[in-house]
Amino acid sequence: MSLVFRRLFFLLALALVLVLSAYGFSRLGYFEWPREYDPLVLPDLDAPSNFLTPFKLKRIDTNVENCRAAFARAGKAVRIEPAQIDSTQCTRQDTIKLASLSTAKLNEEETRCAIAARLFMWEHNVVQPAARQHLGEPVAEILHFGSYSCRTIRGSSAASEHATANAFDISGFRLSSGKLVSLKQQWQGSQPEAEFLKEVRDGACDYFNVVLSPDYNADHHDHLHVDMGWYRTCR
Ligand SMILES: [Zn+2]
Repeated sequence: MSLVFRRLFFLLALALVLVLSAYGFSRLGYFEWPREYDPLVLPDLDAPSNFLTPFKLKRIDTNVENCRAAFARAGKAVRIEPAQIDSTQCTRQDTIKLASLSTAKLNEEETRCAIAARLFMWEHNVVQPAARQHLGEPVAEILHFGSYSCRTIRGSSAASEHATANAFDISGFRLSSGKLVSLKQQWQGSQPEAEFLKEVRDGACDYFNVVLSPDYNADHHDHLHVDMGWYRTCR
């Protein structure tokens, strides 16, 4: 190992030891570690995301009580619905009834709390800033086709993520002036509405495992599908 590498290695090791010791002292109560950089605390749904957010969101996915607590921290009381088993493939577990996000409303829909938490963060961190930037006003309502639906993926025998309320279909946005922005009508072209829609699609990929837009196929010509299935796609 050359001298430069040895020095670099030493500096990195020293930095690691310092950060870990500081974190240890903060856990002992000597000082407050910033919440957004503490991997062991729940994510703040109403705060900007960072590189630790996906890791923190895992704690919400594995424990619905953590999801409820994260909503409570963001000032929103949610109730976990009792589990419902409709068939072997169609179940609802760890769901809440969602009627509003950080500021936008939506028609009340039952969805998995893990999906709701991501919708909340996406609306707060991506949708509202993009609407202000491209359209000059905030989004008042998120229009959707729902979450739970006991069905298979079209053209396949595999159960859709909708069969476990682990997905959400967004069809458009109503702005505070009442103006509508719909995926069906305004996805194509280079109007500000199209730029807004592309930006919210791209931003959704930071929160959801799967994001399918009109760019993906004709089945999605009129909505943005987001889900927390096991594989990752952003199209
Ligand atoms: Zn869908």
